Amino acid sequence: MVDNQLVESIVNEVVKRVQDEALIEIEASGKHVHLNREAIDALFGEGYQLTKAKELSQPGQYACKERVTLIGPKGALHNVVVLGPERKESQVEVSQTDAVVLGIAVPVRESGKLEGTPGIVIASGSHMLRLDRGLIAAQRHIHVKAEDAAKHKVENGEIVQVKVFGKRPLIFDDVLVRVSPNFETYMHIDYDEANACGFTKGTKGKIVKKSN
Ligand SMILES: [Zn+2]
Repeated sequence: MVDNQLVESIVNEVVKRVQDEALIEIEASGKHVHLNREAIDALFGEGYQLTKAKELSQPGQYACKERVTLIGPKGALHNVVVLGPERKESQVEVSQTDAVVLGIAVPVRESGKLEGTPGIVIASGSHMLRLDRGLIAAQRHIHVKAEDAAKHKVENGEIVQVKVFGKRPLIFDDVLVRVSPNFETYMHIDYDEANACGFTKGTKGKIVKKSN
């Protein structure tokens, strides 16, 4: 005698697991800054050490207690989180909506590709620092843990499309794939993109098609 309900529940579970396999969890990144030693000295004082407040999904990366203000020709963005650890070069990541507030045309760039990017004034209390470059809107990207690359059929540096199953599902094009043994697998979008797809915590996406 076959228990149809049991068979059905097993089938459903298998289908769910297979679907989950290929899904990628999405995280929305708000505006933030990465600072180098020179910038930390200028903003917080010589030799200051950033205070770790919260671990992020990517191993070794964390949000700090420290907050700064970004100042542009049209306006300022307050309470902007500093991410650690310190980097070789300072980098400020904002959304296109933030760019409008600042009054600066901000290019979409891969993290670390800062040639030709605009600068920005950063303030902390009475301390001020002018960066000559480093203001970007981060290109949407997927961090892929090396052992997950085969499962998602991707290679480092590839550009793909991702269907996001938010409350307003949509397909993002021009998504950069970054593969590293040091990553955990997550897709990163900014708040403009998060709002566009009805993102809530736990929203997942799937690579649906390679771009040309
Ligand atoms: Zn990222």
